[in-house]
Amino acid sequence: MESYDLIILGGGLAGMCAAVEAGEAGARVLLLEKQDELGGSTVLSSGYMAFAGTDMQEKEGTIDSTESLMDDMIEVGGGANDPALVIAYGQHQLETYNWLVNHGIEFRSLEAVSGHSVPRGHIIDPHQAIQTLYRRVKQLSNVTILFDAPAKRLLENDDGRIDRVIYEVEGAEQTAKASKGVIIASGGFAKSEELLSQFAPQLKGALRIGGRGNYGDGLRMACEHGGWLKDLPYLNGTYGFHPTAAGPVKSQGLAFYKGAIMVNQLGKRFVNESISYKLLGKAAFEQPDCVTFQVWDQIVMDKSVHDDPLYDLQLLKRRRLLYQADTLEDLADCIDVPLDVLEETISRYNQGVLDGEDADFGRKTLTHNYGKPTPIEKAPFYAFESTVAMLATYAGVSVNPEAKVVNPFGEPILGLFAAGEVTGGFHGAGYMTGSSLGKCAVFGRIAVQVALKEVAVK
Ligand SMILES: Cc1cc2nc3c(=O)[nH]c(=O)nc-3n(C[C@H](O)[C@H](O)[C@H](O)COP(=O)(O)OP(=O)(O)OC[C@H]3O[C@@H](n4cnc5c(N)ncnc54)[C@H](O)[C@@H]3O)c2cc1C
Repeated sequence: MESYDLIILGGGLAGMCAAVEAGEAGARVLLLEKQDELGGSTVLSSGYMAFAGTDMQEKEGTIDSTESLMDDMIEVGGGANDPALVIAYGQHQLETYNWLVNHGIEFRSLEAVSGHSVPRGHIIDPHQAIQTLYRRVKQLSNVTILFDAPAKRLLENDDGRIDRVIYEVEGAEQTAKASKGVIIASGGFAKSEELLSQFAPQLKGALRIGGRGNYGDGLRMACEHGGWLKDLPYLNGTYGFHPTAAGPVKSQGLAFYKGAIMVNQLGKRFVNESISYKLLGKAAFEQPDCVTFQVWDQIVMDKSVHDDPLYDLQLLKRRRLLYQADTLEDLADCIDVPLDVLEETISRYNQGVLDGEDADFGRKTLTHNYGKPTPIEKAPFYAFESTVAMLATYAGVSVNPEAKVVNPFGEPILGLFAAGEVTGGFHGAGYMTGSSLGKCAVFGRIAVQVALKEVAVK
């Protein structure tokens, strides 16, 4: 039987950060990847990472702190986050950002995104990130990556310690031994109809967008050995995708965080548009026939950000996904909502913006605590039909701040670690943009650092 110090399941951001960290520490590592390529959901993502106190923020004059980031995370998570995980993230986030930069990950720009009080969304190109980490791994002769090699089951020794992984290669089962630990980094379950119907039946009609291999394999393996699960009741889709979207590429737009309003088929607003797009998704799903539109004007359109994954509104126009009209009358006609209601909705909203008091839904900002809404008044007007997509599951295996998988009593399962989207407990009731990729890098590395301190099993 092949023997390693660590076996990592999955080659998305969490698994690849773990592989580089472990390889550079001199550990013998096997990374099993189910697909014929690396990247999972990571390479589909918009690439926002939540870090505070970075050189990029300093350059742009953004004053930020770890405390403020943690406060935002807990506020967005409705206080249901495991505070120990949030603290661990806070303690490691800036060092992790610098580690990524030092390993050649390029941070392109900074944006204000959902759930943040200041611009804190540090954007990477996720393909560049995964390829850069892969190049580093290839320089490390002590790290082996096997493709098309799904992990199937975990085995424990007589002391109850996880020390072997059964995996498959070309239809044949193999077993490899891990003397210092197994790290589950197999991502979420956005592709598993079975798990989604069990844990999130309310999302039946949502689009499914996620890594090809993300069926919750790691979740099942952890559960088999006593792992507990967290945050499942808070599973939500993400609002802002065009209903024809088959993938995230060029079919998502978050104009509401630049000042658009959201209306339903009746022409009525139904929510404070500045809240998390996860919660917007929940509200959108409760509207008649789940049909909703983002509506904005030229003032908002002028805030389009070229080549940004979420804010390139001009691109949506070029792709003919937007309705554009010179009058509200024509716009109402295009999207088939009653004109008088739409006019009344916009007039009430505009009055609220001018008064500084949105009497209907309490909107005060563009997103979270950031930015000021503007009246919708300058032609042309735009509408973007939008729906909810199940992207990332943000809930799963319960871990402690050392990335050890724990049982229902909070006790670590010996030899078993988990990092990234497969884990639960960190986001609580709501996801703050950038914290998912952030947690992959932070906890992927923590898992390795802790595991390598453990005494090897014979
Ligand atoms: C469209 C979209 C946009 C997003 N935007 C953002 C964003 O801007 N910011 C943010 O923070 N988050 C974002 N997310 C969420 C974020 O991308 C994911 O949560 C994160 O990338 C998960 O990384 P991971 O390493 O845990 O898993 P993944 O990247 O999904 O990697 C898991 C890997 O494990 C492999 N695997 C699965 N089962 C097995 C098995 N049995 N054996 C071996 N390998 C296995 C998979 O094939 C995959 O390669 C977005 C997600 C999507 C889909």
